[in-house]
This record gives sequence, structure tokens and C-alpha cells, in this order.
Amino acid sequence: MMIFYDFGLSVREYARRGKKNDFPDVDICPHCKGHIRLLRHGFYFRYAVTNNNVFSIPICRLRCPSCGKTVSIIPSFLLPYFQHTVATILIKLKHYFLYRKVIGYRQLLEFFNQRFRKNLTRIEMFFRDVGFRGVFPFNPKEKAIKLVEMLLALGKTPLLKRGIGHFPLNFMAS
Ligand SMILES: [Zn+2]
Repeated sequence: MMIFYDFGLSVREYARRGKKNDFPDVDICPHCKGHIRLLRHGFYFRYAVTNNNVFSIPICRLRCPSCGKTVSIIPSFLLPYFQHTVATILIKLKHYFLYRKVIGYRQLLEFFNQRFRKNLTRIEMFFRDVGFRGVFPFNPKEKAIKLVEMLLALGKTPLLKRGIGHFPLNFMAS
């Protein structure tokens, strides 16, 4: 299982700190719901891809002493099952929506585009849930542009801090 955690770091800084980073303690097991401190269970490495770099970053694993299952702490600049960072995906989509400009591989961008379009309603609901009362464009393309810009702006607003402490929306869910 994956837990998403906001380290408050750029991907570059996260990569630089490596295994010496300040990894959070987890006191409730997401598997068995036991109130118990999960134990460190080593690291694995995965890629985090931006427009200019490919970082190999350590992911901290924890293990529940009660049920024995493991948990990975994923930095919230990543989404489940995507190597590209959240900001990289959003910026690629924004350029594509606004200027038809393809950064990187067209095929990849088409995939991002399809996934994002599929999630428009979920993203809209998410912004309603956190209190957005404005109007969304009816036109799907305009709506996609609006939502991608709102998601990009999220990193700079305290709106989400009252959420569950990290990026709570997988806007690229399958
Ligand atoms: Zn457990």
C-alpha cells in the first residue's frame, strides 16, 4: 500500500537528501487499522521524471509489527503509477491544451490527456468539496484548461492544508 506524504521538498531536494531525509512516523496501520508504530523496512528506488531530469529517488518502506504488511511512503509530488511528477504532468497538459504544444513524446501526452479528460468530473467535484464556488466552463476543452490551472495553483495555496495533509486527489486515476 502507498501513503502519500508532503515532504515540503522539491523533487531535486528530495533526491539530494536520499535516505537521510526526515521520513515521517506512521502510528496507525492502514491495513489492519491497528494503533501501532510501523517499523522501518528498508528502501527501494524508483524514478521521478521532470521535463529536464530523471531522478532516482529512495522510497521508504514500513512494516506493521502486528499484521506484517508493508506500506510505502510516496512523496506527494508523485501520483500512483506515474513516473512523471505532478507538476510535470500538469505543465505538459497545460501547454498542450493552450498551445497544442507537445513537450516530450506525443504518445505519452495523448495518454496523459486521455486520463486527465476522464477525470474532469472528479476534479471538479474535488474543487467543489474544498469550497470552490465559481463557475466552470461548460466547454470540455475550456473546462480542462481551467482545471489544470487550478491544480497547478494548488501547490501555492493553503486551501489543501486542511485536507489530509498531502495532495488528496489523484487526477490521473484509471
Ligand atoms: Zn497492520
